[in-house]
Amino acid sequence: MRNALSVDVEDWFQVGAFEKVIGRDSWETLPRRVEANTDRVLALFERAGVKATFFTLGWVAERHPALIRRIAAAGHEIASHGWDHRRVFTLGEKEFRADLDRAHQAIEAAGGVAPTGYRAPSFSIDARTPWAHAILAERGYAYSSSVAPIAHDHYGWRESPRFAWRPVAGSDLIELPVTTVSLAGRRFAAGGGGFFRILPYRFSSWAISRVNAAESRPAIFYFHPWEVDPDQPRVGNAPLKSKLRHYTNLSRMRSKLLKLMKAHAWGRTDAVAAAEQARLP
Ligand SMILES: [Zn+2]
Repeated sequence: MRNALSVDVEDWFQVGAFEKVIGRDSWETLPRRVEANTDRVLALFERAGVKATFFTLGWVAERHPALIRRIAAAGHEIASHGWDHRRVFTLGEKEFRADLDRAHQAIEAAGGVAPTGYRAPSFSIDARTPWAHAILAERGYAYSSSVAPIAHDHYGWRESPRFAWRPVAGSDLIELPVTTVSLAGRRFAAGGGGFFRILPYRFSSWAISRVNAAESRPAIFYFHPWEVDPDQPRVGNAPLKSKLRHYTNLSRMRSKLLKLMKAHAWGRTDAVAAAEQARLP
């Protein structure tokens, strides 16, 4: 069972949790670390012998085209994470189309390949955005991995399916929700991000094995380049909870990821999407 490994390519100052304290108008003045951090991730993947998907902000692709080309040259998938990390439920349909197209053009111009996969910033496709998947289908995307089927303080669409589903009637587009485990009727996040860094390694590894063996489904796992950067600038005026989530266990992340990569089988999200699509009626 091959699981989908993915990286949401954004810088330390672009994360949703810091949105209120770091305005987009200041991004241009902040030291960028995304290129060096993504190179660390590429080195890690090379060491583990895995291919993955890089959901990249158009804003980053426009400023770091050589990085996008290195990712593609190493055999990884370049996909879209939108233009500048605006969450989909804060946009209207017209704005979502514009954000999606601007990112698409920047990524294609940088890497020479048109993205066929999309991940919404902060898993922001949910019950409030019933039009979002239809727009992705209309724009030619093959898959979306934009839904967290759980309840969370920042995001989540609790009632949506835990595994691949077709959100648009008459379209082949599939949604690959980030992995959860179901225990005693409750769903728990198990697809990476802060949960992977903060919880013990054995929980994540067990959850992936459980999804693969007991439910016969691939896991959809993600992390960010800033999570392998313990030396990133600290955002002092952010809410305490956000700071705890963002900075816990950064120095241990690389070895933890390497262990996870060796313990399970991994691949690009487009390959996992194609396999899931073939399985769905
Ligand atoms: Zn993101």
